Amino acid sequence: MKITEVKAFPVWIGMRNQLLVKIETDAGIHGWGESGFSGREQAVAGMVAHFREWLVGRDPMQRGALWQEMYRGDYFEGGRTITAAISAIDIALHDIVGKALDVPVYDLLGGRQRDFVPTFATTGTRGPEAMIDEAKRILDAGWDCMRLTTDSMGIGDDNTFEPRVSIARTADWLVQAREALGNEPVLGVDYHHRLSVAETASFCQMMPAHTLDFLEEPIRDETPEAYESLRGMTPMPFAIGEEFASKWQFLPYIERGITNYARLDLCNVGGFTEAMKVIGWAEAHYIDMMPHNPLGPICTIATVHMAAATPNFAWLETWYGPDRVDRHSDDKVFRTELKFSEGRFTVPDAPGLGIDVNEDQLNEPFRFWEAPHLHRRDGSYTNW
Ligand SMILES: [Mg+2]
Repeated sequence: MKITEVKAFPVWIGMRNQLLVKIETDAGIHGWGESGFSGREQAVAGMVAHFREWLVGRDPMQRGALWQEMYRGDYFEGGRTITAAISAIDIALHDIVGKALDVPVYDLLGGRQRDFVPTFATTGTRGPEAMIDEAKRILDAGWDCMRLTTDSMGIGDDNTFEPRVSIARTADWLVQAREALGNEPVLGVDYHHRLSVAETASFCQMMPAHTLDFLEEPIRDETPEAYESLRGMTPMPFAIGEEFASKWQFLPYIERGITNYARLDLCNVGGFTEAMKVIGWAEAHYIDMMPHNPLGPICTIATVHMAAATPNFAWLETWYGPDRVDRHSDDKVFRTELKFSEGRFTVPDAPGLGIDVNEDQLNEPFRFWEAPHLHRRDGSYTNW
């Protein structure tokens, strides 16, 4: 079997851009993948075009060797743009190999380990009353884990964000939520790396023990030593890793015990080939996977296959909630085997990924989009 074509589709689907990659073969089998470098899709499409130059004619069964060649094939190896492109290509290659061997992708990853994939939901309402009411409806709908809302002061109107105001209000909401919901539900919060070490330490000090089960990305991750410093200031479990673009970025976070849940993103880390190495490494350190999943339905079904074959697994992020469906899907574009109910995905059993794309419907053009550029009250820039 030989690769005959590699196509990138940076297109608008549902409520966002998606960068889909289709790989075709001379066996008449094709595969689909998705890239996760949100907001910079054109750069990744350019990278896919570079790889296409030499991937055509190569054997899709040799996906591990092709991964090495894509990552290390230029003098300037690795990096977020390259691994986002590799991710989409690697996922599409697994789709092809699964179809060629007539097995679901999880059978290529060590086989199925669970009957369904549990997910966590995320509240969208601002608290405390509305947020607690939504959290109760999430529990009633079947979830046992959720992320609660942070106070994002000003975001959405004047794009200001004041960390000290936000952490004071959020801590108040969270304390009330834990009291109302009891000890059993798993509660977390995502601070989208908007805080400093000192602000995070203060935030943790504002709440009694077991207000939260995990705190996701309170600070930026370029400096593991900063997280180690924070680690020494709070016993709070951390969930880190959704931006990591290789096993090497996970290395200090796993080996130094900095993260307690690995927020791996299959469409950024380097696809299945790289993800399964991170998962094995995390398993050796008793760290469970809590994958990032903010993209389209190809990312979701691919991550369900990964989760099915992962022993050390906690929850998969989902767009679903008691009041909402997947806003990133479009029935005219995708035909998927994936089913969702009561906070869980069933594990599909079709060959390959179990999703196909109606290429003729990929006709809504890419739209240049920037994440909101946030500022403090004094005008200085702060993280989205
Ligand atoms: Mg996050």
